[in-house]
Amino acid sequence: MKKIIVATCNQDKIKEIREILAGDGIEYVSLEDEGLSGINITEDGSTFEENAVIKAKTVSEATGLMVLADDSGLEVDYLGGAPGIYSARYMGEDTPYTIKNNHIIEELKDAEGDERSARFVCVMACAFPDGRVITTEGKIEGQIAYEEKGENGFGYDPVFYLPEKGCTTAQLKPEEKNAISHRGRALRAMNKKLAEEGII
Ligand code: IMP
Repeated sequence: MKKIIVATCNQDKIKEIREILAGDGIEYVSLEDEGLSGINITEDGSTFEENAVIKAKTVSEATGLMVLADDSGLEVDYLGGAPGIYSARYMGEDTPYTIKNNHIIEELKDAEGDERSARFVCVMACAFPDGRVITTEGKIEGQIAYEEKGENGFGYDPVFYLPEKGCTTAQLKPEEKNAISHRGRALRAMNKKLAEEGII
């Protein structure tokens, strides 16, 4: 089976990537799976795209292999787009998400209706040993909920409310989230480009 390295140590992302692309005959492995978690990645870009490209290129250059990377996060309009590219580091990398989520809810205590708009964004980058990089983007629009709800997903899912579904992304089954999520959209677009080029 063909193996593709995904430049992440985030097990939640890897789990979703495997679910989204299940059945494409490729094994997606994390940096930890490959004993590569020691590779130093300096995520100092100022956009999701720049950071996704940095991750994919750094690991591709270190291994000489084709590498996929995901940079993603939550943009809250009322907070000027925060936490955005700092979503993982927001309030500290090790701070439990229930504290981060309740902090966002508190920050939006005076926001109503459309003022609570937010989106998840994901940029996938695929870097090749010859230095070439392909990127794709996926987004999902929603709102910040008034309280955390749901046990599925990870990170900010319990506060990301989808008005058309009447629930948060943490209340969706994994396959329901993957069908409409930022990551699902970016990954399916990446898969299509790689297939068109005969790479997978
Ligand atoms: P990255 O590893 O720098 O790309 O950070 C991604 C961060 O964005 C995650 O650690 C979460 O905080 C947040 N995030 C990205 N995608 C999702 C999602 O699907 N659900 C909930 N939080 C997400």
